[in-house]
Amino acid sequence: MEALRVLNSGGSLTEAKTTTPMEAPMCASCEVLSINGVLCHETGCPEAWKSYTRECTWCGQEFTPEEKHQDCCSDDCSEAYHG
Ligand SMILES: [Zn+2]
Ligand SMILES: [Zn+2]
Repeated sequence: MEALRVLNSGGSLTEAKTTTPMEAPMCASCEVLSINGVLCHETGCPEAWKSYTRECTWCGQEFTPEEKHQDCCSDDCSEAYHG
């Protein structure tokens, strides 16, 4: 994780960020990086879950969670899964 070490050792955070023009990763809790199109949060970042898709436990569709413990892609799936 060379890039992260650069950030932590000070210097210009803006310069050290490697972002793609298509998406500018934002994180309130760390300096998130976009490496090869994959968002990388600093270790232990409490917001990291927001950047990763997960699979709906009910229908199997990939979705981006809006809440930390969200396990279904939609309210419908959530209701169906949790009863
Ligand atoms: Zn983060
Ligand atoms: Zn679903």
